[in-house]
Amino acid sequence: MPTSPPHVIIIGAGTGGLCLAQGLKQGGVSVAVYERDRTRTDGLFGYRVGIDPDGSRALSRCLPPELFDVFVATKALTPRFMNIFTERRSELLRIGDWDAPEHEDPVDSEKSISRMTLRQVLLTGVEDIVHFGKKFTHYEQHADGTVTAYFEDGTSASGDVLVAADGTNSRVRKQYLPHSKMNTIDGKSVTAKLPLDDESRKLLTPEMLRGVNLVNAPGGYNCIIHVMEFKWDRDGKVKNGIGGNDAQLLSHWPGLMFDNTRDYIMWGWSAPSRLVPDNFMDLRGEELHKIVLQHTRKWHPDFRKLFEMADPGSAFPLQVRTTERLEPWESTNVTLIGDAIHTMTPGLGVGANTALRDAEILCRRLIAARRGETTAVEAVAAYEKEMHSYAWTLVEKSKSQFGGNLPLGTPVIGRLMLGFMRTGMRVFNHLPAMKRKMLKSMEETRGHGKEAEAPASK
Ligand SMILES: Cc1cc2nc3c(=O)[nH]c(=O)nc-3n(C[C@H](O)[C@H](O)[C@H](O)COP(=O)(O)OP(=O)(O)OC[C@H]3O[C@@H](n4cnc5c(N)ncnc54)[C@H](O)[C@@H]3O)c2cc1C
Repeated sequence: MPTSPPHVIIIGAGTGGLCLAQGLKQGGVSVAVYERDRTRTDGLFGYRVGIDPDGSRALSRCLPPELFDVFVATKALTPRFMNIFTERRSELLRIGDWDAPEHEDPVDSEKSISRMTLRQVLLTGVEDIVHFGKKFTHYEQHADGTVTAYFEDGTSASGDVLVAADGTNSRVRKQYLPHSKMNTIDGKSVTAKLPLDDESRKLLTPEMLRGVNLVNAPGGYNCIIHVMEFKWDRDGKVKNGIGGNDAQLLSHWPGLMFDNTRDYIMWGWSAPSRLVPDNFMDLRGEELHKIVLQHTRKWHPDFRKLFEMADPGSAFPLQVRTTERLEPWESTNVTLIGDAIHTMTPGLGVGANTALRDAEILCRRLIAARRGETTAVEAVAAYEKEMHSYAWTLVEKSKSQFGGNLPLGTPVIGRLMLGFMRTGMRVFNHLPAMKRKMLKSMEETRGHGKEAEAPASK
């Protein structure tokens, strides 16, 4: 059994790729990451990602302990509520309670994280092994068990294992699993943000300021509003009143220098595809901002103000897609993690968490190969077997929980359906025991209350 320590090539310095790189470096595995963005601050990652206990657990097992502490210190104020409103801001459902105890455990808790901040955290300490400006084009597997990745700039890199962490449009997947299929969910979205300041704060109730807020409007329109409040101020200095340990961690963390994230409100507005221009995905900034303002004239004035006050330059388009289930394939020295293999809708909010989970499992397996306990291909096979056992269920569940393909935009059936859903939510809103049960079930899906495990490098 060939057991020479593998050199691992990762394509993509996103959530999954960087978590894997961190874990492999910790575990003494030779690793290099190749990213198409030109610098560590390039790229649009959306603005916010909810990291659940599964994702946190994977990070705590792959990052050096002091960097995991930095990750926890960089989280935004944790939402305490899930609120659903009509477009006129009438409450349909509120889950959460000011009196409920907050989950304080650094691992077993939900965290609202800025994507740019997460990228800076994940790049800390692995800057020497991440190569920017490397757009992957294709790979070649060789008879001696090695693999070479080729890049658009004419360069190449060889190793023993190639990991695709290159996201939804993965070029590696297109070459390796050409039969894989991606489906588009009806609906187009615009995401934008505005600073959280005295003026914008007034547009939201206290429960909204501490909530994940959904707006359900007639015609198939909807919106999500997140409030992100961090421990540092507009100048990037630790705010007054932040506890000693967090203040210490943040003031010594070099990543904050590269992170321009400041307190903000983010909204993501969606419409049925047929109601927006055909070239929607090519539009940017001002053009997208105008479309949102045109379609929300009858919304509550405070919602309107949130849309108006957003920075048009921060607006970008989104189209939700989802992968079709793939049957297991024969493992080789090429493998895939995260969206590259199983893109899912934001229905459950677990895409990034699943990418982190994949990274942690693959990391553990490759460290075993480095120790000579398995071959690299056996390590890949063990990871893929485990990944197949959870990923496709999550893809399918995320799809069924995402309203994109419901006919809510149709004039008669859509109106009826919306009326039915709103009545159901209003009734449910008066049943505290049912709401607690729903919260518990949501928390279970997101990995709350599982046993902590040892770091991947152990
Ligand atoms: C609106 C929305 C909201 C979401 N909210 C949540 C949430 O709350 N919680 C959650 O868990 N998930 C959420 N997700 C899903 C989550 O964003 C993704 O699942 C996650 O980012 C996937 O991580 P990844 O590492 O697989 O890919 P990515 O983070 O997309 O990283 C891919 C990387 O590969 C690079 N790359 C791409 N092509 C190449 C190439 N040819 N050569 C070199 N590099 C390349 C990219 O530049 C990028 O850096 C959401 C998704 C959407 C659309």
